[in-house]
Amino acid sequence: MVRAIVGANWGDEGKGKITDMLARESDIIIRFQGGSNAGHTIINNYGKFALHLLPSGVFYGHTTSIIGNGVALNIPYLFNEIKALTDKGVPAPRILVSDRAQIMMPYHVLFDTYEEERLGGKSFGSTKSGIAPFYSDKYAKIGFQVSELFDEAALKEKVERVCELKNVLLEHLYHKPAIDPEELFKTLLEYRDMVKPYVCDVSRYLHDAIKEGKNILLEGQLGSLKDPDHGIYPMVTSSSTLAAYGAIGAGIPPYEIKNITTVVKAYSSAVGAGAFVSEIFGQEADELRRRGGDAGEFGATTGRPRRMGWFDAVASRYGCRIQGATEVALTVLDVLGYLDELPVCVGYEIDGKVTKDFPTTVELEKAKPVYTRLPGWKCDIRGIKTYEELPKECRDYVEFIEKELGVKITMVSNGPGRDEIIYRR
Ligand code: GDP
Repeated sequence: MVRAIVGANWGDEGKGKITDMLARESDIIIRFQGGSNAGHTIINNYGKFALHLLPSGVFYGHTTSIIGNGVALNIPYLFNEIKALTDKGVPAPRILVSDRAQIMMPYHVLFDTYEEERLGGKSFGSTKSGIAPFYSDKYAKIGFQVSELFDEAALKEKVERVCELKNVLLEHLYHKPAIDPEELFKTLLEYRDMVKPYVCDVSRYLHDAIKEGKNILLEGQLGSLKDPDHGIYPMVTSSSTLAAYGAIGAGIPPYEIKNITTVVKAYSSAVGAGAFVSEIFGQEADELRRRGGDAGEFGATTGRPRRMGWFDAVASRYGCRIQGATEVALTVLDVLGYLDELPVCVGYEIDGKVTKDFPTTVELEKAKPVYTRLPGWKCDIRGIKTYEELPKECRDYVEFIEKELGVKITMVSNGPGRDEIIYRR
């Protein structure tokens, strides 16, 4: 059975924790999009880890971790991430990398930085991990597939051809040093040696695994609202964050994805620029950010402080719909225990009219939040193991959100740890 674990919001919903938890009963975990531009924070017996490229299942001895063809593969990054695990005593994970994955080139990271510099105040709030230049090149058909590393003559020729193009931009647009094709070629040969032990025909492997009835997880990065088609374009990421893309980015049939577990955060947070209707500021935001601790403060990759907001039912319902959510995991509910009352954004007022439908970016910029307030529960819910034991006000909050989403909340997460989860059937 293939199950996707994806985000309904702007990312940082806690997908990593849910994936790590569900990976216990899984055989294979696959990253199918994105790159090292966002991360998951995982807390387990070995310590605390920020994973950027590796899927969250790498901590179990029985799982196979896969980097699918849809991922922006930063080879030295992958290499270092594996090393960071084994250095901390995690048993060497079983890792496969798709021979069709494309390679994050050193110049992608440079171009990302130079372009943000050039745009100045008008920048997209990129993480400067090279993601946008990487996917631009992939679709412009000047990217490099892992498989291409293994044909030296063709590789050399292509490196020269691509450098010619890149160097025009470097010299005339960015006024930066040119790339030396000879040096780049050597770097790519080093990449080849690093990645060689892991390379695999992943879609073939998964075809057999599905036939054998293996339990497979597709782990999404970021959330619905960062999807380039359905998110808050252009303040989005450059690869699809949707479960549907899991089929393409892993190389499996779409109808095999039977379960789409969509992770929804009990309040809102976002990293980077873009309209954020239920955003809060000042002391109110600082308090929520501080209470959120690891879940609140800083993006796992960039260390940038997160923007905070109240739960946005309009955005989250849309986020679930566009994912095709079959069930919802509601996370970081424990953080809200300090509040006397909890504002929930249930509508957007745009040009004097209230809507419950998430609009396109142009309209979104004009939207003002319409709030309903629910009573707080004023206690710490960490450690609680069953739904019935949660305070009534807390259950009311969960059930209010469930009604707004129109999707069953099957899991409530009340702490960062693997076992801090309340199942609801
Ligand atoms: P992801 O990208 O969706 O995996 O999210 P991140 O890992 O960037 O952010 C989620 C953060 O919230 C991590 O620091 C988690 O340890 C933490 N977290 C996840 N679930 C919970 C929860 O239920 N309660 C609390 N307090 N923290 C959580």
